[in-house]
Amino acid sequence: MKIKFLLASLTVMATSVAALAQPKVIAHRGFWDTPGSAQNSLASLGKADSIGCYASEFDVWMSPDGVLFVNHDADINKVVIENTPSQTVLMEKLSNGETIPTLDQYLQAATKMPNMRLVCELKTHDSRKREVAAVKKIVELIDKYGLADRTDYITFSRDGFREIIKQAPKGTAVYYLSGDYTPEQIKHAKGRGIDYSLKTMRKHPEWIQKCHDLGLEVNVWTVNAPEDMQWCIEQGVDYITTNDPVGLQKLIAETPVKAVDKKATKKDKKSKKK
Ligand code: MG
Repeated sequence: MKIKFLLASLTVMATSVAALAQPKVIAHRGFWDTPGSAQNSLASLGKADSIGCYASEFDVWMSPDGVLFVNHDADINKVVIENTPSQTVLMEKLSNGETIPTLDQYLQAATKMPNMRLVCELKTHDSRKREVAAVKKIVELIDKYGLADRTDYITFSRDGFREIIKQAPKGTAVYYLSGDYTPEQIKHAKGRGIDYSLKTMRKHPEWIQKCHDLGLEVNVWTVNAPEDMQWCIEQGVDYITTNDPVGLQKLIAETPVKAVDKKATKKDKKSKKK
């Protein structure tokens, strides 16, 4: 009897744990605010992995000769990537002394970090044609390194958003960044969810529940102040993108977990089908 009781208790505990949710930590442009690192560097990727981030976010631009680079701004040291041959871009250094990484090098490094996901941001390029070409190359490269099942995509570009959904393998998570689509529009476009600014989410906190009711996920950027992190945790968002992954990890560890009523969500879905 005692064993039966123990087993039953364990089952209840396991179920409870499964129903609890805390947001996952995404390092914005990698973990760069630490010695030896720099935004979007290979070091920032390794450091995000070393502290156990759920994912590392990075930005991608394509040069005119079709080489993909990891960099946030349109330019690096005033060299505009979209307008400059790759050999010239490759002469540029990051603030930690690294040469600007190509996406190829970045993904190659990620293959050695099997526990971390990648959040790949397609930057908004000069034309739709260039974006379509960039998406094709990005998707091919991610596939080449066997990283498709642990790469999510984000973009501010409406065209890019549709294009990634079209070109990436079925089931790939694609999130939209600009904040001007409702959860219903994201669902209609077959996106995985919204990845909106803290400002947008503060204005539309109801979108969090709306997304969850629609089976979508919510990521918020870029959340750096402890009070904003706390707000996101309390709102039950799925992911938080931050420049301070260590601070956020600490805060999450100290915050009591919030129970999620998954049954209610399933029931809601059933009633919606009718
Ligand atoms: Mg970005």
